[in-house]
Amino acid sequence: MLRFDEPATFIHGISGHERRVLKSLGITTLGELLDILPRRYDDYTRLLPIATLPLNEPVTVRATVKEIKQVPTFRRRIVIIKALLSDESGSILATWFNQPWLIKQLKPGDQIFVSGSVTMRPRFGRGFTSPIWEPANSETVAAASVAPVYPLTGAVTQKTLRRLIKAAVTEAEMPEDWIPKEILARVGVPNLAAAYRFVHAPESIEQAEQGRRRFAFGELLTYQLALRLARHEANVAGAPRVNFDETFAKKFVAGLPFELTADQKKAVWVAVQDMEKERPMRRLLQGDVGSGKTAVAIMLAALVWRSGHSAVLMAPTDLLAKQHLATFRRFLANYRIPFMLMTSSAKTLYEGNEEYKLKPSEAHDRLAQGRILAVGTHALIEKGQCPLDLALAIIDEQHRFGVEQREALIVNTRPDGKVPHLLSMSATPIPRSLALTFLGDLSASIIKTKPAGRRPAATKVCIGEAGREYAYNLIRREAALGRRAFVVCPLIDPSDVSGVKSVEDEAKHLASGPLKGLRIGLMHGRLTIKEKDEEMRKFIQGESDVLVATTVVEVGMDVPEATVILIEGADRFGLAQLHQLRGRVGRSTLQSYCLLIASDDQSAIERLKVLERTNDGFEVAEADLKMRGAGNLIGFQQSGRNLFKVARYSDLELMTAAREISSELISADPTLMQYPALLKHVVEMRETGHQE
Ligand code: ADP
Ligand code: MG
Repeated sequence: MLRFDEPATFIHGISGHERRVLKSLGITTLGELLDILPRRYDDYTRLLPIATLPLNEPVTVRATVKEIKQVPTFRRRIVIIKALLSDESGSILATWFNQPWLIKQLKPGDQIFVSGSVTMRPRFGRGFTSPIWEPANSETVAAASVAPVYPLTGAVTQKTLRRLIKAAVTEAEMPEDWIPKEILARVGVPNLAAAYRFVHAPESIEQAEQGRRRFAFGELLTYQLALRLARHEANVAGAPRVNFDETFAKKFVAGLPFELTADQKKAVWVAVQDMEKERPMRRLLQGDVGSGKTAVAIMLAALVWRSGHSAVLMAPTDLLAKQHLATFRRFLANYRIPFMLMTSSAKTLYEGNEEYKLKPSEAHDRLAQGRILAVGTHALIEKGQCPLDLALAIIDEQHRFGVEQREALIVNTRPDGKVPHLLSMSATPIPRSLALTFLGDLSASIIKTKPAGRRPAATKVCIGEAGREYAYNLIRREAALGRRAFVVCPLIDPSDVSGVKSVEDEAKHLASGPLKGLRIGLMHGRLTIKEKDEEMRKFIQGESDVLVATTVVEVGMDVPEATVILIEGADRFGLAQLHQLRGRVGRSTLQSYCLLIASDDQSAIERLKVLERTNDGFEVAEADLKMRGAGNLIGFQQSGRNLFKVARYSDLELMTAAREISSELISADPTLMQYPALLKHVVEMRETGHQE
């Protein structure tokens, strides 16, 4: 037996190739290997006679190889191997591409398991295409079973990972569970030891799901406990009290360039009441893109200043911080409220209609004096560059940050130990039950109605050459009217992280043909902050007509004259993200357009059509969940931007359980002293910002 902290290379009978695979995956211990969780499963347990095989469903046959040969092809780099397989009921063809070694491995007369789906192909007829196979005599790994499908990187194959992990499961001495038994029993999930076996070597899809649920619950419980511990600490410390000046508020509202919507007013009012208490506010402000969250934020910041404190507004990107600064300047022009821009590249003070560029030390001194507003990126808080009398921290587009980390950071900004109030703003429409899970027992305000006079962007899925033609004509027509267009490119080449290549290639292509004559700007991750500012300025002021960009323009950018957003390779994006992108246009009374360029894959087109039908963020999000859920019922979500690696939106009942149990645990034992194993796990997560 091997312990989880022993080297994975101790696995019995490990080959040189497998050692190299472990190395290339950066895996040292057995535990790390077992923590690679399957993304989904192929159910090959349906063992059927060849004569009865259905099309397009995962199946397994036990067959004899009748014939096997390499088929000559005209294209030199393609190797095709064909085998005729048969059992008592009939026979079927199997075709493999680019696996020349098969000709040596498989001989007529061999008994094998073959697992895969049978398809009907125009040139190849009915048969298996590159199915997995294993000798029917030896101990099988994947064929004829529920086969885990692992996330793959580089040259590592599914077959190698399956073998390695299966061996690891057999040899591992499973660790003690850090979740107490009573809790596992109450939720109805297996313990850790069983869960590892269930996810990696399940006997059925149902069993794999049982295992997955244990990991999902572990994540949700840890997260909930971390949130509640932080909340408890904050409540004990207390918040600065913000006294509300009604006369000033009325004057401020009257001075705005527009009438606040009823939802905006309500959001301000509720937050003001929260901040009059000594318990730190934890509030989520949800509102679809363009619903006017920034106005709410600025008004609250101004009220906080009026009562003698400081407030900060944090944005996920430099561009967005500057955009917010522009809004501050517009809305605060008639007040003597000092405010600062704090980004890594610029520290500027605006006071009495003057602008002062500050050195970092000067900025620091000014913040220490207090009673100031600051706009910046989240580096503001990480580096402790916050006003020392911070009473309100506003986080824009909070879905981009881990909430827990943010909370932990703002907890320690004030020397007097008090905890600032927190307002998170998000355009991601998550139902309230989910919001509660992600954000703990925080209260929510929702802006439902958009400012009057907005026209929803007309959305069109553009297919083929005709689709493109239509899209480019529209951009030309709008440009001729003095309006602007975004062209968003997906990242195609994985090495092109900043998107330089995608953006530059696309811009060149457009300039030399489809949009010849228009002025084209570029925006991608490799530009310096100065260059980005300049590109933005040109676009805002109409010195460029088209901005070719990566998804950096996804959040917050507010350019009212932009009336077209064209999204290349739209099928590569999730619907919710496309909806965010679409929010870049339709920010004035002008009619605007969202053009989704798609391949002619029918299911992709169907998915995108949802956006043609609705402009409502909640509906889009729901459709997105439904569609993603359907195809991949038992899969583990890919990590990336998700807060959880295993838990899914559909794990509602586990979320509720995690919420209830964490609440009970913390009210009975606010520091988790009686549960050292749990506490250790939670503390690790709070420190590293991620789980496991
Ligand atoms: P988001 O909620 O996406 O952050 P913004 O705050 O950027 O939305 O607002 C989008 C646009 O709507 C901005 O140009 C803003 O000035 C304008 N706006 C905000 N509130 C109102 C309102 N009540 N009436 C008219 N326009 C408004
Ligand atoms: Mg915004």
